[in-house]
Amino acid sequence: MKNLLFVISGPSGVGKGTLVRLLMQEDTSLSLSVSCTTRAPRTAEREGVDYFFLSREAFLERIAQNGFLEYDEHFGNYYGTPASFVDEKLKTGSVILEIDVVGALKVKEACLAAGREKPVLIMICPPDLKTLERRLGGRKTESEEQRKERLARVRYELEQKNGYDYTVINDDLQTAKRALQAIIKKERNA
Ligand code: 5GP
Repeated sequence: MKNLLFVISGPSGVGKGTLVRLLMQEDTSLSLSVSCTTRAPRTAEREGVDYFFLSREAFLERIAQNGFLEYDEHFGNYYGTPASFVDEKLKTGSVILEIDVVGALKVKEACLAAGREKPVLIMICPPDLKTLERRLGGRKTESEEQRKERLARVRYELEQKNGYDYTVINDDLQTAKRALQAIIKKERNA
């Protein structure tokens, strides 16, 4: 059985966090990648569990040393997937990386460019946009403009699915979980 990097993405509200949690609970050989960030820890966040919290200097140094599979800036802070952490985890099992579509496609490119094992990209999709909107809840505070922006973002993310190896529709949680487990099993045994 191969140890592989599974990159899981999907629009917010699609239930990927819940699915990843279920996968981890049922398969102890899977582990989760932990990202590095320059933002300050929030209450209850733990070093090495939620993130590795780095100073800006340390993060920039790591970029210079090619230490990230990908990195990006969100809201003025850096976030990145640490290559050495992922590699260490891959020695003993497969790794799940939950990341946005832009990051996922960067990881794929970086792995191919570095001659690493190709990661398996999986996109979790909602059954339809109306369902996703409903799941995100009627945000009373959201203006029409914000709602449109959010939907445009979701559409953009879903349009990137051609770059993915698999799409899984999360209509029913258990069905989606089984579909993910089947993909992981098939790829690891290929
Ligand atoms: P937060 O600060 O709320 O934990 O995360 C802010 C944003 O950073 C989220 O959109 C999250 O998906 C993104 N993020 C977290 N880790 C990484 C990473 O390793 N790489 C990239 N590109 N984005 C990340």
